[in-house]
Amino acid sequence: MKKIIIIFVALVFYSTSVVAVEKMKFKYNFHENLPKKWITEFENIMNIVQEEFPIDENTNNIVKMAISRNKPLNIYLWLDTNKDPFPEFKKNGRKFIMNESAVMGDGTKSWIQLKVHKQDLRENISMSYYVVVHEYFHIYQKALSKLLRQSLSDYNPKWLVEGGATVLGNIYTRQYYGKDTLKSDIRDRKSWKFKVVTKEPHLYEKHKTSPHKGYDRNYAGSSFMLLAFVNELKKNNISEEEAFELVFREYWIQRSKQPYDSNYWRVAFKNTFGMSVEDFYKKLSKYKRKDLKKILPSKTLKIQDIFN
Ligand SMILES: [Zn+2]
Repeated sequence: MKKIIIIFVALVFYSTSVVAVEKMKFKYNFHENLPKKWITEFENIMNIVQEEFPIDENTNNIVKMAISRNKPLNIYLWLDTNKDPFPEFKKNGRKFIMNESAVMGDGTKSWIQLKVHKQDLRENISMSYYVVVHEYFHIYQKALSKLLRQSLSDYNPKWLVEGGATVLGNIYTRQYYGKDTLKSDIRDRKSWKFKVVTKEPHLYEKHKTSPHKGYDRNYAGSSFMLLAFVNELKKNNISEEEAFELVFREYWIQRSKQPYDSNYWRVAFKNTFGMSVEDFYKKLSKYKRKDLKKILPSKTLKIQDIFN
């Protein structure tokens, strides 16, 4: 009997130590103008993403330290009817009016700001949920690459940063709501310039050289590049799930092993994919507009199959 009790006690200790992996803490700051139903779904999404691609103490030593400081990352959320949703909020000690969804920082703190568009609630609610996954994924990229303090606009290359967040967000809404806007965004000729992407892809390595307007609206150009790249990986006998796992997760882990410098990402790229950036750009130059329909993610693709 004693033996059984000891085994039982050992089991209890073992199972609690298994479940006690500490996750990165987020603090939700909801504006009172947000619908209750939207808030419930937001919390549901945050639980899913933190379960399927978690940022936790096992991620790496930098994340572990950040978690042990016990300062949650603030997420501010509001409906766009309010022009100054958080009047008390300060950036660098000065009043700051939040106006767009973004991951932000001022040197002493980071935060996520999420603007929910009334139009999305009326016409396509999954778009408002897409933004949640997109912004959480930026924190995931930063955490894996041990660059929690760096600004996203300094991240290289932009097409993997923003193309990644955009494509993943769309895979998510396709899986959970049966809808995504990837195809229509990439098809929209006013959103980006096909020739620039295929002939001058290096412009998409930086935010500055591929501005939203005309070049990368809704990150359509960056998304096209990311999908073409996944398509090239698949030609090397890599499955779709594995290829997405490499661009969404493995690349950022490799990135953490390189110094923080504007060019070292190329080494991480080669190490992760076995293909150099220049080799990929050569392949990209041969793409045609009509290739778009061949490179969209499978509609049955699941987040769980990618991050398993
Ligand atoms: Zn983004």
